[in-house]
Amino acid sequence: MSTDRVAFVNLPLRIRDYEDELVDAFRKVLRSGAYIMGPEVAEFENALKGYCGVDHVLGVANGTDGLIIALRALNIGAGDEVITAPNSFIASAGAIQMTGAEVRFADVGPDYNLDPAKLEAAITERTKAIMPVHLTGRPAPMDEIKEIAKRHSLYVIEDAAQAIGAKYKGRPVGSLGDIASFSLHPLKNLQVFGDAGFLSTPCKHLYERMSGLRNHGLVDRNTSSEWGLNSRLDTIQAALGLVQLKRLDAWTEGFRSIAAQYRESLKDVVSVPEELNHEYSVYHNFVVLADRRDELMQYLDNKGIDTKIHYPILLHRQPAAKHLKLPEGSFPVAEDQVQRMVSLPIYPELEDSEIKRVIAEIRNFYSA
Ligand SMILES: *Cc1c(COP(=O)(O)O)cnc(C)c1O
Repeated sequence: MSTDRVAFVNLPLRIRDYEDELVDAFRKVLRSGAYIMGPEVAEFENALKGYCGVDHVLGVANGTDGLIIALRALNIGAGDEVITAPNSFIASAGAIQMTGAEVRFADVGPDYNLDPAKLEAAITERTKAIMPVHLTGRPAPMDEIKEIAKRHSLYVIEDAAQAIGAKYKGRPVGSLGDIASFSLHPLKNLQVFGDAGFLSTPCKHLYERMSGLRNHGLVDRNTSSEWGLNSRLDTIQAALGLVQLKRLDAWTEGFRSIAAQYRESLKDVVSVPEELNHEYSVYHNFVVLADRRDELMQYLDNKGIDTKIHYPILLHRQPAAKHLKLPEGSFPVAEDQVQRMVSLPIYPELEDSEIKRVIAEIRNFYSA
């Protein structure tokens, strides 16, 4: 048996076979001098439209800024409330708070996404929007969420940071709400080589408003129509992103194939994520619910297999959320899951032998 560790992620391995193509793209931008808003930015935005199923895509500096810009474009700020899931990455709640609005949480379902049945109780007269997170790359139950949003005249902002390529009833994430924000952080399914992100929207008016907000509200070189951010997507990252994007479909197949193997081989020992008929998940993370989770993680670590927890501290229990005064017990489903969840290594470069090792060691742990 190999003594090499099964790493949780290995990004240099991903680019090994086409590093020269990346270096060429990098050099082209270096020599162009167009480091800010060079032609590759629009080229990349255009190329991404197909993945979002909408007419308008806008590169931004990162996915968190994308969420802030989306909220601001919908005039959400002080005095308003936005509902999101308590089990997401910090940025989902942080972006809401950074606009001056207050985050409200609603509990999640077995799919780790907002549970429509819990949503309505979180709505108040201040609520302006619902922000479903397609957590782990699995699409949230958007029809039910949108029906509730419609009934209460709320906007829907998709936090699609983990879900590029995922589909719901055949429609890509990014096309399911008023605005969606994606991240191109190195650890996401489509990554660049630093921070970057993009927004998608079916609405031309929102697109124009967000274009202003990402660039000082500038309408021409010297005139600002409203105060905005400096949150442009770097030309260099866009150029590298174009090289990466060509490989996304193959990577997605890789994620999905590993997920299928884990699901089939582990379903009798841990609780594995389902994929319903109308869902197409991209498995940014493969999260299982495991008995004796901490012991299992320690056992796997001893066997040379890296695992992680996404995310060990729920958002309402973060020190930053102290002012919300939400005690333990506020969101029983998320709180139960967080005690039992563990993310297994999943990335297209994982070798068959490594996948088999992960499966075998988890099974060994439970048969002992
Ligand atoms: C990564 C992530 C973000 C933030 O994206 P950045 O590009 O890192 O700012 C937001 N929401 C979720 C669910 C994420 O996973």
